[in-house]
This record gives sequence, structure tokens and C-alpha cells, in this order.
Amino acid sequence: MEIYKGKSAFPGIAAGKILFFAREEYEIRWHSIKDVHKELDSFEKAKKDVADLLLKLLAEAEGKPASVSKNYKAQLDVLMDHSYSDAICGMIENQAVSAGYAIQTTRDELIYTFQNLEAPVIRERIRHIREISFKLIRALGTSSAQIVLGEEPVILIAEELNPAEILEIEKNNILAVVTSHGSEISHSSIMTRTMNIPSLFNINVDKDWDGKTAIVDGYTGTLYLNPSDEQLKEYELRRQEDLREREELMKLKDSPDITLDGKEVNVYANIGSVDDLSNVDYYGADGVGLMRSEFQYLGKDRSPSENELFREYRKLAEAMKGRNAVVRTIDLGADKKADYMRIPPETNPIMGNRGIRLALDHREVFEEQLRAIYRAGWYGNLSIMFPMISSLEEMDEIDEIISSAKKNLTSRSIPFRDLRRGVMIETPAAVMIAEELAERADFLSIGTNDLTQYTLAMDRQNPSLKDKYNDHHPAVLKMIKMVIEAGHRAGKRVYICGEIAAETSLTETFLRMGVDALSVVPACVLPVRRILRETDLSERAAERI
Ligand code: PEP
Ligand code: MG
Repeated sequence: MEIYKGKSAFPGIAAGKILFFAREEYEIRWHSIKDVHKELDSFEKAKKDVADLLLKLLAEAEGKPASVSKNYKAQLDVLMDHSYSDAICGMIENQAVSAGYAIQTTRDELIYTFQNLEAPVIRERIRHIREISFKLIRALGTSSAQIVLGEEPVILIAEELNPAEILEIEKNNILAVVTSHGSEISHSSIMTRTMNIPSLFNINVDKDWDGKTAIVDGYTGTLYLNPSDEQLKEYELRRQEDLREREELMKLKDSPDITLDGKEVNVYANIGSVDDLSNVDYYGADGVGLMRSEFQYLGKDRSPSENELFREYRKLAEAMKGRNAVVRTIDLGADKKADYMRIPPETNPIMGNRGIRLALDHREVFEEQLRAIYRAGWYGNLSIMFPMISSLEEMDEIDEIISSAKKNLTSRSIPFRDLRRGVMIETPAAVMIAEELAERADFLSIGTNDLTQYTLAMDRQNPSLKDKYNDHHPAVLKMIKMVIEAGHRAGKRVYICGEIAAETSLTETFLRMGVDALSVVPACVLPVRRILRETDLSERAAERI
């Protein structure tokens, strides 16, 4: 057995086979399917979706250089070419394979056939075959993921994974995630944590591990490669013990979140999409304190439409059954890039065009999202929240765009209601004007992940800073206190929604600062609630400290 020591991004124990993912070399694994007709239908549907998309892109390309529309026309040509579709359908029917696998194999066979032909027209055709196959695989939905896991749950290992890639994985088939790069508060780690998946980073991973067996210990940050049967048995016992401890915590689920001296503090959950809602209920969160809506925009060819967004937010509003859910508007840019937004390369993306700045620059996209959130608010208790605010002028612009979105809905006779608005405090500038911002909002939510990186001037994802990056830095804690006091002076509630909110060693400190709510990944809701109920904030208790 070999032992590799790294860092833990989320605890838990897992053992199983490794799937090594190398970007650009992904492969949809073969597995036999039972329902050939279902697979053929999925292919036809994907084909129609891609054709619709290309027609839409063609319409939008009007007035743009001819090469743009030529490209889309050529892709449509491949899509409508009977020999291409027939080859895929034939393979599904004759070999009982998934549509994704058939597309991938047909693509590879065609490329292999033409690979030695140098004629530019053939080279172009190969390029379009690649592109159209990619679009079809993506349009297939979950089975289209770049990382296709096969039927047996695996430990996913990669040099690094970006948020769009994580979004594509079928979480029920993942036992654990291990990467070389990353950090506790990178968006990729936040996502695996939200999905409840034991995760390690800072391990020197190796492609040759693919298919081997490993144990992941998310408590100690260790990966054991090729463990013996004895060790596997031992870890199975630890895994069972781990599960029992978690079940013990579940007993807290239905009792109220009140400190020993009677103060009620809400514990909300942070989610990436409506897929995480089952965990919100499972762990008994009081609501959703942060939905990172930008994930809906990643891994796509175009930004989602108002209706698509509306359907998601309505699901969220209805599923919460009256509990509050806060939708954060798009926080794209930096490590969350949507290609179709064409963000020019930046020397320092973390300090670049991201969050509200980027949203205000893409007014149409932003307004479309606002319309969708306001519409969905009609069906439940939604709030809206703005990321990366650093000035009051940004609030003026937001107000103006919200008015325009509402006017649009009124003109279409679509019902909506006013929503509570929150401002994220993630920049030192926002800390310094927190009171003025609170006067313009209904609540403040402190995003300590970004606030820490901008306060310490340390990129939250930079692995070489991992031992220096300190989110417990007194400057950060002092800022949190300042913001809570500023918000309260303006008569508004203040939450913390950065990862630090889940740190039980700080729960009492935050409560003593007067925080009104903490929003954490679903699996951390119960540990925080346990501490909260054991805390006494009365003066008598303070004297005892
Ligand atoms: C934060 O910055 O603390 C936050 C909650 O937002 P994100 O982690 O998505 O940047
Ligand atoms: Mg942030």
C-alpha cells in the first residue's frame, strides 16, 4: 500500500476504484443498455435541441462576418447528414449502447477514416464532426457529462477540476474527489462539499492510478493506494462509525435553533442548484441562505433563457414551502467563466471583471435573470442578493435595471411581487460603506471567502499560499464585527455565508458579535446547530469565560 498525504476539503471516508480524469482525453465508458428505444429517443431529442440551437445562433449571426454563419451552417450540415445519424442509430440498435457512447464512437471512427487526408475541406469537415458530436453529447444531459463515470461508483481523481466539470458529474456515482490543485475555499471544493462528497487536494496524483483501488480518508487528508483486504475491512468499520455519528446528529434536526439564553439564530444552507435541495431538507436547514445561481450559466453554449431560469427558481420557491431562499445573482468571471460571454483575457481575473461588475456590463443577461427571479418570487418566499458590491453607484444601477425588469413584466401582464434585497459584503470597500449599503438593502450577507482574499491580498485558489492564507485573521474577524454592527445600526439583519460560517470553533464568536444567521453547506448545518444550542450568550455566561 502507498500512502499520500494531502489536505482535506471535506471529511468522510470512502473506498473504491479510481477513475482518473484527464481533461481533453475524456471518454464515455461503454456499458450495455436495456432500453434501446429510450436511447434512440434521447438521441433524436438531442439532435432536435442542437438543430434549434444552431438555427438560433444562425439568426443571431445575421449582420456578423459571413464566416460565423458559415460555421453554423456547416455544423447543421453534419447534423442533418443521414450517414452520420444512421451510423449512430445503427450502433445504438445493434450493439445496445448508450447514445453518448454511440456518438463518441461514430465521431472517432469518422475521424480515423479521414485522418490522413490533408485536403482543407476534409480538415474542416472533421472539425465540424468534432464540434457537432460535442454539442450532441452535451445536449444529452447527465449522460453527456465530460466525466462519465460508468455504472460503478468511483473515486474521481484529476490534476484539477473546474466548477463546470464538477457540475457535470453524476454525484450518486462519486465516492470521493481527489485533486492535485485546489484549496479549501476554491469553488470546486465548495461544490463537492455542497454535494456531500469527501474531498482531498494537494495530492500528487498519477494517471497510472486509473482503475486501482484506494481509500480516501477525508478526516486526515490521506489517500491510501492499493490497500490490503485487511485495511479495507478496517476502513469499512470506520466508515460505518462515521455514518453512525452522522445519524446521531440527525436527532437535532427538528428542534429549534435557539441559544441557551433564548436567542433565535437561523442556520441556512448554501446550494449550487435545485439539485441540492434534497440535502437542504435532509439536514433540516431553516432555508437557503445562498444559491450560487451562476452555476446555471456554466458548461453551456449560450446563457439560459428567462423561461429556463424562471422554471428553476420557481422549483426552488415552491420546494421551500414558505421558508426563505436567497438567490444570488450571477457571480461570473474569475474562475467561473461562461465562454459565450466572451470575457477578454485578464492578467488578474480575481481582481478583474467579475460579479456585479460583469453583470452590469452584460445588462441584457442580467435583466433577463432579474425578470426570472421576480417572476418566480410569486410562487414562494424568495430574496435576491448581489455579489461583489463595492460602491453605492452599483446599487443605483441595479435599482434602475430592476425597475426596467419590473416594467417589462407588467407590460406582459406577468405577476410578480417585491423581493427582499441583500447585499454581499465581500470587498473591503463594502465593509467601509456597510452602513450606507445596509440602508439601501433589506439584509447584508458577509462573503468571507472573497473578503478574506481581498483583505489579505492573497488569491484564495493559489496553492502556494495555502499555508499562509488565514481566514481566521484578526483583520477578517474585526471586519465581520464591523459589518454586523453597521447593519444593525441601519436596522437590518446580517448573515455570514462564506465557508467560515461552518467553523464550529467560531460559532460562539459570531453569535457574540450578534450575527442573525449563518449559511453553510448542507452537511454542516447540524454541527453548527448543535453548538448554537449549547451556547449561552447571557452576561452571566460571559463573565464565566
Ligand atoms: C464568499 O465569497 O464568501 C461567497 C459566499 O461567495 P463565493 O464563495 O461564491 O465567491
Ligand atoms: Mg464570493
